[in-house]
Amino acid sequence: VVSAQRIYKSFGSVHVLKGINLEVHEREVLCLIGPSGSGKSTLLRCINHLEKIDAGRLYVDGVLVGYKQRGDKLHELREKEVAFQRKDIGMVFQRFNLFPHMTALENVMEAPIQVRREPKAKVRQRAHELLERVGLADKAKNYPAQLSGGQQQRVAIARALAMEPKLMLFDEPTSALDPELVGDVLGVMKQLAKDGMTMVVVTHEMQFAREVADKVLFMDGGVVVEEGPPERVIGSPREERTKSFLARVL
Ligand code: ATP
Ligand code: MG
Repeated sequence: VVSAQRIYKSFGSVHVLKGINLEVHEREVLCLIGPSGSGKSTLLRCINHLEKIDAGRLYVDGVLVGYKQRGDKLHELREKEVAFQRKDIGMVFQRFNLFPHMTALENVMEAPIQVRREPKAKVRQRAHELLERVGLADKAKNYPAQLSGGQQQRVAIARALAMEPKLMLFDEPTSALDPELVGDVLGVMKQLAKDGMTMVVVTHEMQFAREVADKVLFMDGGVVVEEGPPERVIGSPREERTKSFLARVL
């Protein structure tokens, strides 16, 4: 579903991504781990073209992200076309950015109505089902301010799922939560993985990565230092940098 080939990205003179390769197949869960500043968020943002890459090729579901190929020339897509590509990608951030003036249900209904122009009754029905799926059937009428951080984050997941994405991107979805709320959110993500969703997850939750990831990728300084199945990369890392990182987070 995702194929990244030699991705480079700089902000001014800061080289953040230096030739990243990655592959995520359908129904796979890839966990991205690495120290602060290693480029994890930037890589996720490149995948749905919130950031433009400087070099390399990035495909989502077989489609070149952000560009159109004509002959051997690449043409940048217009914002509208990029938005069209992005609607198949769900993203959940560290900070739950729900619309504060809308209820949980309205938050989940918003995109299918505004973007896909689907009939309201059908969207409402599906929104209720999604809230149930994330364990919040009884909170449909609550506003974000009336929900805990973990509940808000689960609404954010339901909202992303409402667009029926082919790929879900998570950027440290639990790192802003109180410890006792983390489990519920990870539980929802675990179930999602079981149901076959293709996912890329930036996380510091090594236990989650061990249980759920098909593949773990350790990044440091804008390069992939090590990748493989979780029991290999987390269980018996080969590289010094991976070892010292894991010693700090485990
Ligand atoms: P963390 O674990 O702290 O979230 P990260 O691995 O997600 O870190 P990134 O957010 O991708 O790291 O940032 C990588 C580097 O890129 C950092 O040095 C950061 O300062 C820089 N950077 C990120 N976004 C921008 C931007 N919009 N403008 C300038 N520099 C940026
Ligand atoms: Mg980050």
